[in-house]
Amino acid sequence: RMKKTQTRETLESKYMVDPNPLGDGAFGEVLLARHRKTGEGVAVKKIPKQFTSDMNFQCEMDALMHIRAQGGHPNICALRENFEEGEYYYLVLDLVGGGEMFDHLCANGAYSEADAARLVREVASALAFCHGIGLVHGDLKPENLMLSSENPLHAVIKIVDFGCAQVTKGDQERMEGQDAPTAAEQSIVHGDNTIANTPAYCPPEILDVELRKKRGLALYNKIDPSFDMWALGVILYIMLTGVHPFDLDGTATDDEVEQKIVSRQAPPLRNSPLTAHLSDSAISLIEQLMQWEPEARLTAHQMLEHPWVMGETALTGKMA
Ligand code: ADP
Ligand code: MG
Repeated sequence: RMKKTQTRETLESKYMVDPNPLGDGAFGEVLLARHRKTGEGVAVKKIPKQFTSDMNFQCEMDALMHIRAQGGHPNICALRENFEEGEYYYLVLDLVGGGEMFDHLCANGAYSEADAARLVREVASALAFCHGIGLVHGDLKPENLMLSSENPLHAVIKIVDFGCAQVTKGDQERMEGQDAPTAAEQSIVHGDNTIANTPAYCPPEILDVELRKKRGLALYNKIDPSFDMWALGVILYIMLTGVHPFDLDGTATDDEVEQKIVSRQAPPLRNSPLTAHLSDSAISLIEQLMQWEPEARLTAHQMLEHPWVMGETALTGKMA
């Protein structure tokens, strides 16, 4: 019996790629493309193989496929399909049209408590899902929180960039015999004591190399869900004040930020003009997330039950 030959589908055969990229990332570009048959827009993350040594890609692919297999989440940007062609990997993702929260913060400054509470509730909900399926995002920051629409009334959060994600439990077979540090682990502590990632959203225990040595932990130690909760505390601080808690005027170097976090220098939170307009409930939530001790931080589930996150105590006016 003869079989009809099928031409292998390629990115270009299925999608029309726009010449102007959507974003520039650490490893490659994110392209805008259009499905040739349906006309639907998609985002395509293009990752040069040379930068990944197959590990980063594996990591982001694994995470996105794991999320998809678990049913996905409305606040996580979904993976549609992937291609491997020549020197590149391509991840075809849902197109998120409202831009980064980072740009929104730059353009409009701080959010009102009510708006921030709604957006942060969406992030916490996505994190509860991720942590529940044994996944830590590992790189939460306003650049990786996208908004679905430019209209703030309709915009919902879509988390992107699972390039640093780690599996914390389950998937035992896949993790078995995998003694070497994953790409994400390597990217956190690169070499002896330099942190390759931006430390601005890293909790102290990850930055604190001396402490890790003392506890006998490997420098590329795995991260756990409390890592994301710290980062979300930092993000919430920025959303409500418009400034970074360890870089108030935006001039600090990575080293200076890292030094503040490692030396447990408390950010201005109570009795500070920066936060004078905030409700006590909002301040206390930030405190409960930005705990120096990882075990003391709220979990994503606990956070969803916090009265401020539930919208009960968040102030409605924009006063920042
Ligand atoms: P990197 O790991 O290199 O930081 P990201 O996945 O964060 O790559 O993508 C880089 C940037 O591209 C994002 O910060 C965002 O501006 C844009 N981007 C990423 N995914 C999408 C998407 N699905 N829709 C629209 N823009 C996106
Ligand atoms: Mg990113």
